[in-house]
Amino acid sequence: MPHAAPRPHLTPLARKLAARIASQGPMSFHDYMEACLYDPDHGYYKKREALGRGGDFITAPEISQVFGELIGLWAGEVWRQMGEPGAVRLIELGPGRGTLMADALRALRVLPRFLESMTVHLIETSEPLRNAQRATLAGTVPPISWHGRLSDVPEGPSVLIANEFFDCLPVHQFVFSAATQDWRERMVTFEERTFEIVSGPVTNQVRLSPHGSVPGDGDILEFRPGVEEALSAFAARAERGPAAALLIDYGYSRPSLGDTVQAVKQHHFTGIFDAPGETDLTAHVDFSHLDARAAAAGFETFGPMPMGEWLLRVGLEARTQQLLASASEEEARGLIGQVSRLVDPAQMGALFKVVALTRGVPVPPPPFSRE
Ligand code: SAH
Repeated sequence: MPHAAPRPHLTPLARKLAARIASQGPMSFHDYMEACLYDPDHGYYKKREALGRGGDFITAPEISQVFGELIGLWAGEVWRQMGEPGAVRLIELGPGRGTLMADALRALRVLPRFLESMTVHLIETSEPLRNAQRATLAGTVPPISWHGRLSDVPEGPSVLIANEFFDCLPVHQFVFSAATQDWRERMVTFEERTFEIVSGPVTNQVRLSPHGSVPGDGDILEFRPGVEEALSAFAARAERGPAAALLIDYGYSRPSLGDTVQAVKQHHFTGIFDAPGETDLTAHVDFSHLDARAAAAGFETFGPMPMGEWLLRVGLEARTQQLLASASEEEARGLIGQVSRLVDPAQMGALFKVVALTRGVPVPPPPFSRE
């Protein structure tokens, strides 16, 4: 007698998406990923505090305070390069638990004029994470406000920071067919109580331009419309005052083909269709695309620079030495381990990259130069 296939446990979101597919047909992978992350009832970011040791994944600011401190000092330096404008907006996209911003503001006590000139603006869709940010940042000095989108931040000169924000915006995936010499879109369907990928007509044509090399059968190309949206909102601000951004994420510097989507739950990789709404889904950031779109939007662009190199060049060693001077032996071991994790190319130092964008700032932001 054949074994009955195990009946997979369906999450509430899986049931909702299955019903949607049954009535409307297969959905693009982009829409699937978007629902997994942002569905108003069951989306991953709607319900949980995903990050940190007790969550599903850990990020650089959660690894070491030095990360946020150096970014704070970077923001201060860029503000000086802008000519120290008043009413400056320090903006963070996707601030997680608020750790980076807390470390940045603490480090900026050395530049009180900047703290007095700024208001802080946190762009966050997740209610549980907004609460975590409120708790982490309680008692900090500059006034803080929360917004659902960048375009809601009041006008003014801006310094924007985003760490691991772009990687969670949903991607379209296209697959090349040698037979038709054309791209098809990867769609998600639901059969026999499981989700699977099928191909269908393309639902978003934007990125199907030549990609450097000729694609082969089965090659996958990813496209993330959210990059364009964020850049155009930031470009609109930059029309009316100096603007600089520091974007840090994991991804690739040259146009690449391939499926880079990954699902993570409790610090382990899992399948993209396992437990929709309960696992974190991300995909690599295509930095060449980001760079090209930023340049087209009128920004001067710097990088991508490997994150390890960036941290070393903005003073990681000196800051670490300072902390080591007052650390116990055990703390010192911990600190060295954390800092190496950020810098070591075999760990986060090379996969993660840093890009800076400026407009209306006369000199390149540290540690970049004009080639
Ligand atoms: N920067 C933080 C968190 C990274 S996780 C850190 O480095 O620790 C991604 C963050 O972006 C979370 O705070 C998440 O809730 C938020 N986020 C994801 N998509 C978003 C969107 N479309 N708009 C605003 N915030 C978003």
